[in-house]
Amino acid sequence: MKYSAPRGTVDILPDSCEKWEKLERILRTVASNYHVREMRTPIFEHTELFNRAVGDTSDVVTKEMYTFSDRKGRLMTLRPEGTAGIARAYVENKMYALPEKLTKVFYMGPMFRYERPQNGRQRQFHQFGVEMLGVESPYVDVECMMMALTVVKALGLKNVTLHLNTLGDADSRDAYRAALQDHFRPVLGELCSDCQARFDKNPLRILDCKVDAHHPAMKSAPKTIDFLTDSAKAHFDKVCELLDMLEVDYVIDTNLVRGLDYYSHTVFEIISDDPKLGSGSTVGGGGRYNGLVEELGGPATPGVGFAFGMERLMIALEGADEEETAGIDAYVMPLGDEAKDVAMQIVAMLRANGFATDMDYASRGLKGQFKSADRFKAAYSIILGEEEVQGEFVQMKNNRTKEQTKVAFEDIVKTLEKGLGLE
Ligand code: AMP
Repeated sequence: MKYSAPRGTVDILPDSCEKWEKLERILRTVASNYHVREMRTPIFEHTELFNRAVGDTSDVVTKEMYTFSDRKGRLMTLRPEGTAGIARAYVENKMYALPEKLTKVFYMGPMFRYERPQNGRQRQFHQFGVEMLGVESPYVDVECMMMALTVVKALGLKNVTLHLNTLGDADSRDAYRAALQDHFRPVLGELCSDCQARFDKNPLRILDCKVDAHHPAMKSAPKTIDFLTDSAKAHFDKVCELLDMLEVDYVIDTNLVRGLDYYSHTVFEIISDDPKLGSGSTVGGGGRYNGLVEELGGPATPGVGFAFGMERLMIALEGADEEETAGIDAYVMPLGDEAKDVAMQIVAMLRANGFATDMDYASRGLKGQFKSADRFKAAYSIILGEEEVQGEFVQMKNNRTKEQTKVAFEDIVKTLEKGLGLE
C-alpha cells in the first residue's frame, strides 16, 4: 500500500521550513516591536467552545469543523481558528486580573477546516493572529490595525489597502438586522438555501455569501453606518480620525461583515493587489469582539484582534530578497572504519563547543563527501584518513579560500574559531 498525505494537507520539506522560520522570525520581530507576547493553546478543544465562540451560523462551524469523539465519548474539535482558544484560556487563567488591563498576545500554528482544497485553501493551514483584550478603546483598534499593516510591510507586500467597516454595538446591530431583514424579505426566495437559513439567525451573514454575491439586492442593501447609535458612531469616527492622524490610507467598505459571528464595532481586512498574490487578495483581517469573553463565562471584556493566513504570507515572502540558507561550520569526512570512530568524537567535541557540525555516516569516498560539504555550505571540511588517525591530526580545508592545513586534534577548535572569526 502506498501512503499519501491526507487531502488538503502538505508536507513542508526542509528547504521550505527554512523559509517558514524566516517568516516566523519576521512575525516575532514585529510582535516584540508592538510588545505583543506569544501564547500557545491546545490544537483541540471541546466542540462546544467553537459552537459558542465562533457562532453556529458560520460556515466554519456548520460545515468545516474536524470533530471527533474521544475514547470517553466527549466531542472534540481540531481548532478551526485561534481566537476562541485564546479567549477560553484568558478566562480560565484569569488573565483579566492583570493590572495593565490590556493583554496583548499573538499565536501562530496550524488550523483545521474541512474545505474543498483549491488554490490557497487547505484543510490544515496556518494562521498568525493577535488578540488585544481588556480595553474598549478606538486606540486599541488602531494599534491592532497598525500592527497588521506593519506585518505586511515587513514582508515587502506592495499595493496593500486597509478595508474598514463598523458593525456598531448591540443596539446598532439590532436596528441593522431588522433593516436587513426588511430589505431581503421580498427576494428571499431568490437567495441560496444558506442565505435563507441565515435570514432569521444572522442576516448580516447574507452580505458575506459567495453564492449570492452578485444578486442585485446585495448592492442596494442598507449600510451598517446608517444604523449606528451615537456611541458606536463616536467609536468609529475616532478610529478613522486616528488613522488619518497616523496617515494610514484606508477604504470604508460598507459590505464588509467578516465570516465569524462574534464581531462588533470595527471590522477590517487587508487586501493586496501585489501580483504575487493575485489582485484583490485578502491577506487577513479581524475586528472587535466585545461579547466573546463574557459569552465564554468570563467578565465582560472587550477584545480586538486579527489573523493572517500564513500560507498567504509565505507567498508574499517568496521573491523577497532571498536570504542565503545558513550552512554548517564543519563537515567531518572520515575515510575508513577506524577514522569513523575518531570522527564521531571530533563531531561531539565540536558540537559541545557550539559549532554546527555533521559527518558522513555512509562510508563514501572523498569525492562524494566533498560534494556534500558543498551542498551543506560547510565553512570547513575536516578530513580524516588512516594516516591522520595514527598521527592524531586532521586535514582542515577552508572551503572558501580552498586552503588546506594539517591540524593536531587539540588545535581543531582553536583553528575553527580563528577561521570563523570568533576569536
Ligand atoms: P478567517 O479566520 O476565516 O478570518 O481567515 C483569516 C485568514 O486565514 C484568511 O484571510 C486566509 O488568508 C487564511 N485562511 C482561512 N482559511 C484558510 C484555508 N482553508 N487555507 C488557507 N488559508 C486559509
